[in-house]
Parts: sequence; C-alpha cells; structure tokens
Amino acid sequence: MVAGLHGKIQEIGSITNIVGLYVLNNQSSKSIPTALPVCVLCGSNENREIQVGVRFNSHLVVRSCNSCELVFVWPRPTPEEEIEYYKTSYRNEYHGSVTPEKTYNKSSVEAGERVKRMTPLLSSEMQILDVGASSGAFLNTVKSQVHSVMGVEPDQAHRSWAQTQLKLDMVRDIPELDKKRFHLITLFHTLEHIPDPVTFLRTLAGYLISGGKIIIEVPNVDDALLTLYKLPSFARFYYQRAHIYYFSEKTLLNSIQIAGGLAKITGIQRYDLSNHLRWLITEEPGGQNYYKDIFHAKATDAYAEDLIKAGYADTLWAVAQF
Ligand SMILES: [Zn+2]
Repeated sequence: MVAGLHGKIQEIGSITNIVGLYVLNNQSSKSIPTALPVCVLCGSNENREIQVGVRFNSHLVVRSCNSCELVFVWPRPTPEEEIEYYKTSYRNEYHGSVTPEKTYNKSSVEAGERVKRMTPLLSSEMQILDVGASSGAFLNTVKSQVHSVMGVEPDQAHRSWAQTQLKLDMVRDIPELDKKRFHLITLFHTLEHIPDPVTFLRTLAGYLISGGKIIIEVPNVDDALLTLYKLPSFARFYYQRAHIYYFSEKTLLNSIQIAGGLAKITGIQRYDLSNHLRWLITEEPGGQNYYKDIFHAKATDAYAEDLIKAGYADTLWAVAQF
C-alpha cells in the first residue's frame, strides 16, 4: 500500500472506483507495459486501431488484438493516472453530485433483476460478497435469501450510508476481508475498469470457499448498435475513458480461463427496442421506454430475445467457477 493515498481514495465517489484501490494494492499491475500496445490476455503486440478518441478523452485509441480479439484502450492508464482520474474526473463525468440515497434508488430495480437471475444459485447457507457494492442495493435485495452478505466499497459516503441506513457489513478494500471466504462473489460492471482483469479475478478467487462462484456482468462489445447497426455516434459514446477493456463472450471466457476458472456466459439485453430506435433516429442516448405506449412487453421481449440469440446482447453475464 502506498502511504498517504488512502485519504485521497476515500474521496472518490462510485462503485467502480474499486479499481483505484486495486491498483494501489497490487504491484503486479505496475508491470503492465505502457510503451507498446501489448495484449494483457495473450501477450501479442499485433493489434489494429478501431477508433481514435473515446467518450471523455479525445486522445485514447481503441485497439483490438489480432490474436485473441480483446478490445482495449491505449495507452493504458498508469496506476497514478487511474487514482487521479477516479479522484477528480470520474464522478463529474458520469454521475454529477450523486448522493448514496439517489444511487440506491436508481439501482434498486436492476438489483431485483440480478437477484431474480441468480435465484437458482442461491441457498440459505450462502455467504455473498459484492465487490463494488456502492450503496448496497444488490446486497440489501439478496440478503433475505442467503445466510450473510458483505460488500467492498471504497467510497466512504456510499459505504457509510449502506452501513448506517441498511445495516450492511461493508469494508473499504479487498485485503480487509482477511480470512473471510464466500460461496458467491459478484462483480457488476466492475471488471471492464480494472487494468489487469486476470490478476484481479485470480485474487478474488482466493476468497472463494471451495466450489464457490464469481458472477461477472460486463458490457458486451458485440452490442447490436455497435456491430449490427454499426452506428458511428453510438461507437463514440460506447468507448469511454473509464472502461479499459471491452469484452466479447469469447474474450471474457478467455480472461476467466486464464485466471484459472471455467464459465458459462449468457447474454442480457438491458436496453430496449425504444432505446435502439431512438439511437438510430436521434443518435443520442436516453430513449429507454420512449415508445412504451406503442410497443408492449411482447414486442420488446421478442426483440431482446432475438438479439440475445444472435449474439448481439448489450450485456454479458458470466457464472465462473474456480
Ligand atoms: Zn490478445
């Protein structure tokens, strides 16, 4: 741990700033080469440019590995840049002055959907850890179905709110878990922010009880707006400063396997038919439910199912065993 940086990290304000703490705690992440674009998964230095400039940063380049197809931004930020970014810019870029309570309210519907999706895996003896737990919406939703829940959340405001308002067991950082072990560890939209995802998964696997699983939810780089409709305005929005990696089903599986796991990966469609139509018409986000009075569940569900079946889901859901 780098002395004196704890205080700074505590000011950071979002679930995904777990990356800042992780960078500080893992010297191995400092060995990631930054001079040449080298793939963090397969080590190949042969890759091609996909796009110059991403949301919130016009200098970063999106590249795709010719060997394993991992998509990543280059140059990869240094640990120091990541700490500074999550301390100063990230919250403003994505969330504005969001309070823990607002985060909780915004996340509660999706938390319910996640719990529903993982219900077959849950049991009353289970201990669950959510890494990047934010205000605790997921943990608070799942806790009645399992033995115990715990969260890792570096942001002091969100962590304290979950502790005091929801009485959740929260720690600031992964090493504080010490000898605790879990049947299930969840990572919701966290892995794409982590500079060394394989090492991160390996570290988390060390906190699993034998036979335990890690659930990973990340955006899918084969998103229909990007690869089926090939909408340039969406690509400019999709690739963004905070996401270092853009996983497909293949590269997510590859990452998990290199970390020593096996996984079953399925697609999820979070954005609806209205959202896609509005993107194609206005080239801007914000169209979710826009045509809800015209297209009802039957049409929107069928659209989502067809996208998932054809491999164009916007989100990937991996159940990984280590
Ligand atoms: Zn590669």
